[in-house]
Amino acid sequence: MSRKLITDAQNTWCPRCGNFAIQHTLKDVLTGMEEEGRSQDNVVLVTGIGCHGKMADYLNINSFYAIHGRTIPVATGIKIANPDLSVICCAGDGDAYAEGLTHMIFAAKRNIDITLIVHDNRVYGLTTGQYTPTSPLNFHGRSTPAGSLEKPFNPLELALVSGSTFIARAYTRKLDHLRSTLREAIDHRGFSFVDVLQICATYYNMTESYNARVYELEDHDPADFNAACAKMREWDYSSDAAIALGTFYRTSAPTFDEEFSKGRQGDEERKGAIAALLDQRV
Ligand code: SF4
Ligand code: MG
Repeated sequence: MSRKLITDAQNTWCPRCGNFAIQHTLKDVLTGMEEEGRSQDNVVLVTGIGCHGKMADYLNINSFYAIHGRTIPVATGIKIANPDLSVICCAGDGDAYAEGLTHMIFAAKRNIDITLIVHDNRVYGLTTGQYTPTSPLNFHGRSTPAGSLEKPFNPLELALVSGSTFIARAYTRKLDHLRSTLREAIDHRGFSFVDVLQICATYYNMTESYNARVYELEDHDPADFNAACAKMREWDYSSDAAIALGTFYRTSAPTFDEEFSKGRQGDEERKGAIAALLDQRV
């Protein structure tokens, strides 16, 4: 019998928060995987600190509530210890792009086979509205009442140059697209990165602006690195440009966990050879 994936824990997300969309989309994706014979027992969710982190309480799946910015090292350890698991990280934009930025870069560089879903509401929601690395220039928030002085960075470009083998953007008000994108990311072998434009209804509600500007990628070849880079640069996370949703880049490359397993087999062979030599001496 399939399990009830939404827990009975009291949900404290604000009404109209985009986290609900990610929660229910993950539920649908996990249900679909189970129907195809992939047990939910083989899925592990790792969350960080922030509003998104409560996903560990609200989804009835194996989970690990990590400390701030540390979803990826925890997920990496889980994947290396048990390569048969599907390991999914839910992280916030503060969590992944500020506190945990180097972990994201090195996960992409190593091509560890995990999925990183960033709930990118472009604000620190849990701490009531400070600017993050993807907040726009001149963001008026709790820590920058006169407007932030820093331009945001583009996390997709960062993932691309760091070596990520799957890079996509989705939006919490485009549910079908979000569902197919998360499923594609989980199925991809290697480091999959999805920047989800997640509505923070309370501290940075971009619903009207995003609704007017998002469009789904068409006639785009995700195997083309330069085309992916050009598409990513259409919007710099600050301007009012159109915002592409979809899979910008996808390629295949050896994964860190596979290479690590081979190394472990090599260790066993070496140990065997040493034991054989010692036997000969006796
Ligand atoms: Fe969602 Fe923003 Fe409320 Fe956090 S503060 S629960 S991100 S709407
Ligand atoms: Mg945030």
